[in-house]
Amino acid sequence: MRVGIGHDTHRLRLGGPLRLGGIDIPHDHETIGHSDADPLLHAVTDALLGAAALGDIGQMFPDADPANRGRDSAEMLAAALEAVSALGWEIVNIDCIVFLQRPKLLTHRLSIRQRLADILRVDLERIGLQAKTGEGIGSIGREEAVAAQCVALLGMRD
Ligand code: MG
Repeated sequence: MRVGIGHDTHRLRLGGPLRLGGIDIPHDHETIGHSDADPLLHAVTDALLGAAALGDIGQMFPDADPANRGRDSAEMLAAALEAVSALGWEIVNIDCIVFLQRPKLLTHRLSIRQRLADILRVDLERIGLQAKTGEGIGSIGREEAVAAQCVALLGMRD
């Protein structure tokens, strides 16, 4: 077995919708970034790559490459999955935390988990998702940023 960890932060600005976990959430803020700026998918991508010691998302998809501008992060995650699968690894489970002051993610949690399960081609029960606010302090609390963390456990296929 191998465990990997991923973390990502993106700045927020006025606008919407909020792209998170591969879905668009109606909101009055949106993320800023080179790709579609989805911090949760980026954290999951890094957790998979990290578990297989394959580097990180910045190495696989350099932000200096114009081809990656506005890129769908689900594509990047699928490519990371393909890379770890090619080495014989499969996902045992992932667990993620989103750090976001607003909106409450409770009503979107199942949709995000389902989207992650679809991209990763695993059962829903292998995808954990937690949400924390910034308690009104720091960059998360002031709604200047959204962050995500993920741990991934991989097992070797028989
Ligand atoms: Mg990112």
